[in-house]
Amino acid sequence: MKQRKVPLRKCVACQEMMPKKQLIRIVKTPEDEILIDLTGKKSGRGAYLCGKDACFKLARKNKALDRALKHQVDPEIHDQLARDFAAAEEEFLAAQGSADDE
Ligand SMILES: [Zn+2]
Repeated sequence: MKQRKVPLRKCVACQEMMPKKQLIRIVKTPEDEILIDLTGKKSGRGAYLCGKDACFKLARKNKALDRALKHQVDPEIHDQLARDFAAAEEEFLAAQGSADDE
């Protein structure tokens, strides 16, 4: 019997628990930069968002990222994250599809 445990993380916007792979990691680097971390390996404080436009908007509205990262996230940063996500979405979705239930 083989049982794989899927690591779950919570989306800071909608509070839903999701497999880590299906969430976007947002990281605050030691230099106080706030970036999307598709590799999940950057050091710094991380927060997870499901890859939904609605959750980006919600996180912006309820300051979920500010709280999770313990750092004020400026509107420009939110814009940047949304743009970066739009640019990376294809890559993100491709990574999700790989190595799934074989
Ligand atoms: Zn969400």
